[in-house]
Amino acid sequence: MSFVFDTPPQASVAVVGSALRFPVRRIFCVGRNYADHVREMGNDPKSEPPIFFTKPADAVVENGASISYPLNTVDLHHEVELVLALGEGGAAISEARALECIWGYGVGCDLTRRDRQAEAKKGGTPWDVAKAFDQSAPVGALTPVRGGAPLYAGRIWFAVNGVSKQEGDLAQMIWSPAEIIAALSLSWRLMPGDLIFTGTPAGVGPLNPGDRVECGVAGLTTLSFSIAPR
Ligand code: MN
Repeated sequence: MSFVFDTPPQASVAVVGSALRFPVRRIFCVGRNYADHVREMGNDPKSEPPIFFTKPADAVVENGASISYPLNTVDLHHEVELVLALGEGGAAISEARALECIWGYGVGCDLTRRDRQAEAKKGGTPWDVAKAFDQSAPVGALTPVRGGAPLYAGRIWFAVNGVSKQEGDLAQMIWSPAEIIAALSLSWRLMPGDLIFTGTPAGVGPLNPGDRVECGVAGLTTLSFSIAPR
């Protein structure tokens, strides 16, 4: 097959201990998935279904990258998240089968134009400008599951210039990885290569030109990146 211009490169993520790379098909994200405030306020964290949004596959950024401060924002925010990498998919996946779909786990940062998101929430308009911009999805090297136990607990953290900003535990997630996969697969036929960002704990805040970021999840490879100076 020939095309009218060269096709773009396949978006991909590194794999721990391998020269092979994980090909990215789509990126799904879950909003508002940590219960730290919800439960202490006496509310039921599962009173509403999970919120989903997407980013383009080529928003993925390699570990160690220098990311340009995005256009059209003065309030770029960080959200450290556990990322699920799917090796199998399907529609209407049961929670019992959902974990079998996970090929590996990684650490990601859901970069967000918080000013544009506030406008979208206020106006009831889509989140694409707030969430789905170029270089908005740094993802560290993926750790294959290889029959290991699912990641349902463990420290998740984020630091800017060596200063801690986000601290949480995967056990605080309102919707577990299996529940997220089952719920997503009611609206999309999930496919191998899909990445799922699973939400962020408390402590989100701004990133500025020149900042150096480190973030992680217990047991996974640390993700590092920087925001390029102006
Ligand atoms: Mn997020």
